[in-house]
Amino acid sequence: MPDARGRIYLDYHATTPVDPRVAAVVMRYMVEAFGNPNSVDHSFGDEADEAVHRASEDVGSLVGAPASYVVFTSGATESINLAIQGFARGALKGRRIRIALSPTEHSAVLETCRSLARDGHAELHFLHVDEAGRVSLEEIESICRAGIDLLCVMAANNEVGTVAPVSEIACIASKFGTAYLCDATQAVGRISIDMARDGITFLALSAHKIHGPKGVGALVTPARRLLSPLIYGGEQQRHLRAGTLNVAGIAGLGEACRLRSEELSVDEPAIAARRDRLHQLLREAVPELVLNGDPLNRLAGNLHVSFPNCPNGAVIARVRDHLAVATGAACSSGIEAPSHVLRAMGLPDSVLHGAIRIGIGKWTTDEEIELAADILSNAWRDVSSRVKRARS
Ligand code: PLP
Repeated sequence: MPDARGRIYLDYHATTPVDPRVAAVVMRYMVEAFGNPNSVDHSFGDEADEAVHRASEDVGSLVGAPASYVVFTSGATESINLAIQGFARGALKGRRIRIALSPTEHSAVLETCRSLARDGHAELHFLHVDEAGRVSLEEIESICRAGIDLLCVMAANNEVGTVAPVSEIACIASKFGTAYLCDATQAVGRISIDMARDGITFLALSAHKIHGPKGVGALVTPARRLLSPLIYGGEQQRHLRAGTLNVAGIAGLGEACRLRSEELSVDEPAIAARRDRLHQLLREAVPELVLNGDPLNRLAGNLHVSFPNCPNGAVIARVRDHLAVATGAACSSGIEAPSHVLRAMGLPDSVLHGAIRIGIGKWTTDEEIELAADILSNAWRDVSSRVKRARS
């Protein structure tokens, strides 16, 4: 159902509403069980410490890892920075680190790597992706064989939703002794991930993409010893990330993960069915609609389409009061340049400029899908008839 202001939210890749069950846990650890987990002298501290431990177990179990692998952070951006910068400073002891990365990575990965390269600490090797945003396993194998210290390939893309073959990538990386950073921010809680089976070295995740609060996430790793901390201070998290733990946020992240473990297998097929219905309605209304990304391996909630020769900014301007969809990633929308992801996929300009990202989630209803299709196709009709008039 649209909200009290009549708006429909279809931007679940940017963020998700906090599950009221998660909010109740966060509230409890803010107001009642508010102790500092490092206060060893009383039971307020014990209670908070137990909450952190339980959250480590819930986060770990969602991604197939023991609780001891979990380092809590302020979100995926920090997790990614800790993995890349921490690895560069820790394992390689000042040597120039060789990083292979996909050009479709999130800016948290791209900009961290670029900053290391600018300062002379890293040498970057960009992989290729095809028109669906897929990396090539052959290319990954040959670049790892040539000698790469760190490989960065995200589990699922935050724009086009393309899901990477994470197990195969991890297997290649471990064959050549390459550390593998998997940014799984969009994938965790949506597809099954098993770190123990796959042998991923570093996995980044964030609570706000899975109905948890903003400002909390984790880096999950069996290889803490390879990392130098980025934040110094107290002894928290075994010296890897100093600072009093955000217990309420961490408890919320844990609860969000626990709920995803229980509900993923029921939610995701239902979300995919709504996504497919919306796609069908849009295709019927807009015959030249283009589907971007990998039609076979993509997130259930992702529908990334282009209205060719119909500027996306004009469509968004018409729908924005009623419908939340995006021209690109939340951290770059508002920037006029076309998305680096679509550029890397080599899409033609007409497709690039007409691209709209739609993210469907757990609470999207059938009614919202029908309404969203109407809102978008009316906007398209209006914009495209103006474009045609202007050209004739
Ligand atoms: N990586 C991906 C794939 C994302 O989609 C995002 C958020 O948009 C991030 C990293 C950054 O996450 P956070 O907002 O927790 O810093």
